Amino acid sequence: MKNTKFIFITGGVVSSLGKGITSSTIGRLLKSRGLKIYMQKFDPYLNYDPATMSPFQHGEVFVTHDGGQSDLDLGHYERFTNELVNKNSNITTGKIYSRVIEKERNGYYNGATVQVIPHITNEILSFLKKAKETDADVVITEIGGTVGDIEGLPYFEAIRQAKREFGSDNVFYVHCTLVPFLKSAGEIKTKPTQHSVKELRSIGITPNMIVLRSEFSIPKSEKDKIALFCDVEERAVIEAQDVDIVYDLVNKFHEQNVDDFILDTLKIPAKPIDLSNWNSMIERIGNVEGSVNIALVGRYVNLKDAYLSIYESLDHASNWLGKKCVVKRIDSDKITEENVEKLLKGIDGVLVPGGFGNKSIDGIIAVSKYARKNNLPFFGICLGMQASLIEIARNEAGLKDANSIEFEANTQNPIITFVETLHNDNQTNLRLGNYKVILDNSSKSYSLYLKDTLEERHRNKYEFNNNYLEILKNCNVKFVGKNPETNLVELIEYNGNDFFIGCQYHPEFISRPNHPHPLFKGFIEASIKNHK
Ligand code: GLN
Repeated sequence: MKNTKFIFITGGVVSSLGKGITSSTIGRLLKSRGLKIYMQKFDPYLNYDPATMSPFQHGEVFVTHDGGQSDLDLGHYERFTNELVNKNSNITTGKIYSRVIEKERNGYYNGATVQVIPHITNEILSFLKKAKETDADVVITEIGGTVGDIEGLPYFEAIRQAKREFGSDNVFYVHCTLVPFLKSAGEIKTKPTQHSVKELRSIGITPNMIVLRSEFSIPKSEKDKIALFCDVEERAVIEAQDVDIVYDLVNKFHEQNVDDFILDTLKIPAKPIDLSNWNSMIERIGNVEGSVNIALVGRYVNLKDAYLSIYESLDHASNWLGKKCVVKRIDSDKITEENVEKLLKGIDGVLVPGGFGNKSIDGIIAVSKYARKNNLPFFGICLGMQASLIEIARNEAGLKDANSIEFEANTQNPIITFVETLHNDNQTNLRLGNYKVILDNSSKSYSLYLKDTLEERHRNKYEFNNNYLEILKNCNVKFVGKNPETNLVELIEYNGNDFFIGCQYHPEFISRPNHPHPLFKGFIEASIKNHK
């Protein structure tokens, strides 16, 4: 087996420091040096996974190819590195404890008193060992939260022990902190960083590298001061100043020799860096001219993180096509038949993302109807597709009470329904992760994908009810994508409009900055054509 190396990324001072972006940046750098990487995140909260947490609190749930429901930072990992993460890539305290308790109930511990150290910490370490089995050269593990949090302690203890477990030559600690600027004093302040590192050292971890997040450039004298007080080499103090294009952080880190320093310390032989493709992507993003105006209509529009991968995918496609994407976020609970025209004034295309809940979907239906009737490019994802089919059933097939049983359990016309046997997660009744989609090769979607067999990620409980297939076909709906095993509807187009596409799956999880998803690309292309 390979001599796998481990990099741990921790944070201090404040949360939301961008540890996820720092981890992703290091991942991209090492991948660009020819190394095989594996990325994961340990989240100290008690939920089993983020699936049941409100999008308002925790942002989107990022779905992995194998059906893991995970933290949105994993989306950054995939977008930056183009390496797949999986179910094991996001561990929470809830997951760790439930495994330990299950073992205890089964007599696994042989009568021992079960304790945080060593049983919980060993369980955490087992996920590092699992990561090693992926044959990665480097495993990069981000620890959620900040040093000193009570919940985080077992993780910090486990990664401290990792040095004994895997050998001190094989472990590298990165600590991210905030360097604030005090306007009144006209100075940047290093003290919070010193305190944060002191806290880390008090639990037995000495960082190898300190990443300083700041709005301003940090003078060398201040960095040297941090090196001295925190007992790291001067070249190990790295600044992460805000950047216009987030992917450019890879260059900023490379300019500060982050990759060389990590490789030297861990004694990893690696190829010279090749960032040519990466940098042509950044150049493309920097050179966009003009904009395309997209309306995003959903319930969680007030928090950008709630639809993070959607915004990213819109950017990937628009930047690829040379435009900046300007998104107008519209709360679906506030849109009606009466105000829809006004709200969509100046909009080039409408996107309705996924969603769950027992409130009405009337606002979404009004938008979908308006787009359909006015030939406004429309892209409905999951709930967005379901709502567009309900709208067509109501207004074109005369099924006035057409609905999803999610919103009206007793509807006489359950266009969207629950199909007992088709979910793969028995706890939540969800269809999760990758499923095959077979495309009709005479469809518009085929001309975007240029292939007829797809693997797309899912996260839904309800499905289109195939009993209504013929009725809707007669209303100009083309059912152009199906799952071959179950015959479930995966992709629809409304005939006659320039772009009206709905998919049951979530294309946003597989779009990449340098490989925009074909459906997003098609949608943005149509919206650009429609630009007023
Ligand atoms: N709530 C719908 C369902 O469960 C749509 C899910 C989604 O948009 N992700 O089928």
